[in-house]
Amino acid sequence: MNKPLILVVEDDAPIRSLISVTLEAHGYRYVTADNAATAIMMATSHNPEVVLLDLGLPDLDGVEVIRKYRTWSNNPVIVISARNEDSDKIEALDAGADDYMTKPFSVEELLARLRVALRRLAISQSGAPEDPVFVNGPLTNDYAAGCAFLAGEELHLTPNEYKLLCLLTRNCGKVLTHKYITQKIWGAAWENNVASLRVVMATLRKKLEKDPECPPFIQTHIGIGYRMLRVDAAGENAEE
Ligand code: CA
Repeated sequence: MNKPLILVVEDDAPIRSLISVTLEAHGYRYVTADNAATAIMMATSHNPEVVLLDLGLPDLDGVEVIRKYRTWSNNPVIVISARNEDSDKIEALDAGADDYMTKPFSVEELLARLRVALRRLAISQSGAPEDPVFVNGPLTNDYAAGCAFLAGEELHLTPNEYKLLCLLTRNCGKVLTHKYITQKIWGAAWENNVASLRVVMATLRKKLEKDPECPPFIQTHIGIGYRMLRVDAAGENAEE
């Protein structure tokens, strides 16, 4: 199998070289860009498996790079940003980024995020548009039957809890913003009704994460949204 190709978009030379050296040491191939125009050109010509994207670029905001890239590619984009503001991360996620890291970040964190992104890519490229049954450790979601099971036992979910679960399982590994989730569940009129989302999330979690032995399926990103984590069959968090 070819080594995955990563496009590193970063105008800060020391950070760019730190990331490149890390990628090379861990068996990845990489190409780099130090501005948005080059990034778009490199993405077009090299079709990278994953893009690591700095948001603060000299010529164009990184969010615009995501918007352009999403017109032709669904490959994972991990935003790397010096900005602490949640609104920047939310804007990037809503534009189609999969995940984000805030500078300064550790090399281990970078590699872990990359593995998550590559796994998501492998699943999305595995042939069938979607498996009729989603399996994540002890959790099973049978889309066709419209029901979910935990360790073989059917979960009794309300319609909104089930909609929320489907959003999370269909986007396993990806951070979903509050706005994205509320729009999908309640429609545009309810956009950003985070209070309602919290209520449904709390009741879903009670049913889903009742086994203290099993690590949580859902990760909270405070002020941003939620992500379903991949757990392995033994019930250990396989990621992060
Ligand atoms: Ca920058």
